[in-house]
Amino acid sequence: MKCILSLITAFGLLLQGFAQQPTRPKKVILMIGDGMGIAQITAAMARYTGRNAFERFKVVGLSKTSSADDYVTDSGAGATVFSIGKKTFNGAIGVDKDSMPSENLFEKMKKVQRATGVVVTSSITHATPASFYAHVPSRKSAFQIARFLLNDQCDIAIGGGARFFFDPRYTADFQRQLQKKGYTTLLDSTATFTYQTSPKLIYTLAGDGMPTMQEGRGDFLTKASLNAMELLNKNQLGYLLMIEGSQIDWGGHDMDFEYMKLELQDFNETINAVLDRAEKEGDILVVVTADHETGGLSLNENAENRSTFKPSYSYSHHTGVMVPVYAYGPGASEFGGTYENTEIFFKLKNLLQLP
Ligand code: MG
Ligand code: ZN
Repeated sequence: MKCILSLITAFGLLLQGFAQQPTRPKKVILMIGDGMGIAQITAAMARYTGRNAFERFKVVGLSKTSSADDYVTDSGAGATVFSIGKKTFNGAIGVDKDSMPSENLFEKMKKVQRATGVVVTSSITHATPASFYAHVPSRKSAFQIARFLLNDQCDIAIGGGARFFFDPRYTADFQRQLQKKGYTTLLDSTATFTYQTSPKLIYTLAGDGMPTMQEGRGDFLTKASLNAMELLNKNQLGYLLMIEGSQIDWGGHDMDFEYMKLELQDFNETINAVLDRAEKEGDILVVVTADHETGGLSLNENAENRSTFKPSYSYSHHTGVMVPVYAYGPGASEFGGTYENTEIFFKLKNLLQLP
């Protein structure tokens, strides 16, 4: 009898153990390496002496990146599709192919009182982050994009872009309006990140884009991302945070391998830090992907040294090749396979049980 009882107890504990492993995430961190294709990851990590974050994922998928009007997407359409679940025209921010605003993931999160944020190395008004909180037909409308933050759909925004918030020629009264909405607004033009405690924060550290790694940006992206995770954690219902390695793309446009490599290695370290935290917390889904590949990078044979390769860019713009999707945490298995980029929106929406 005693034996049966302890068996039942053991079985109960086992079930309890399973129950503690959530099947759905409470928090989602979507990490976008802008312009980060498989060749960029392979090349940047080839001689890297630190830990390769990409090798920590058990689930990998492939995303087909074309936009509504072009086989080769731009970053506006490429991020809008994650945010609204519809392919749109290149240059669009949060609007569908008919230029109509479409409800985005951040707005859906807010409908159920959850927290949202963006941390980037571009301006926080740049195409990728803008697609998560703004609705404009053109990515070039940076001042207009900044004003969408007054709609209170994005709790944390950290990156560059001070001139769109603090230039009195364009933004008289904008500060006061943001503060009235409860935001702490901070400008540090020295690009030196300091730890913040306000759960509603607009923190710009450069006039437009952040400095490059080559210019000494250091571990800004990792520090800012971990700080954002802590601040968003104050919301008991969970959060959606978008972190972007924005300048992997800019290295590609410049066809500058060293630039791209250092930006991707920095992104790799941020992924490592996010995964370390996700392993501890247990209820975070981490999805790492790209909007598109940039530069048609190939790794050619190096006749002088066959133990390495010659990186070669074929083009100074985006290409139409599929990009990888890495997933870790509750719901990660949903991201295996080959699918259109629209699917990333639907998978996130379903896993977060959003309206
Ligand atoms: Mg971008
Ligand atoms: Zn680009």
